[in-house]
Amino acid sequence: MAQKNLEALFLHNLKDIYFAEQQMLKTLPLLAEAAESEELRSAFETHLSETEVQITRLEEIFGMVGEKPQGVTCEAILGLIKEGQGTLAEFKGGEAAEAALIAVAQAIEHYEIARYGTLKAWAEQLDLSEAADLLEESLEEETDTDELLTDLAEAAINREAL
Ligand code: FE
Ligand code: FE
Ligand code: FE
Repeated sequence: MAQKNLEALFLHNLKDIYFAEQQMLKTLPLLAEAAESEELRSAFETHLSETEVQITRLEEIFGMVGEKPQGVTCEAILGLIKEGQGTLAEFKGGEAAEAALIAVAQAIEHYEIARYGTLKAWAEQLDLSEAADLLEESLEEETDTDELLTDLAEAAINREAL
């Protein structure tokens, strides 16, 4: 019978975020392409490079717990992407297109922040301190991205959307 302890739960969520990050490798270039402002495009491009590193960190963590890197379908990220595509299609070409883009991206960042925050706490409880450090690095990148998106929205894009 499959284990149902914290270690198993940690591994399950590691697979979940691994799947989600891979979806973001495909989605961030589309967001960058859809961005009109140079700042927003470059924010998405920077975060794409960070995402590549985040995936290698997750692969390191799989190694630390003696598992092969493997994803498990994350319905949440698929739903956020699908919902986002709908919103972007609806507001494409309008004054609020950039605001929509930022809102879609921030929902995704918040999901990642939730996952990395939880995984880091569990890694500490499981005495996986090196894993916890790697998860903290990714958590900081997600948080910084979220804050940068807020700054961009507040600086110009929300005003232009009016
Ligand atoms: Fe990420
Ligand atoms: Fe998920
Ligand atoms: Fe992210």
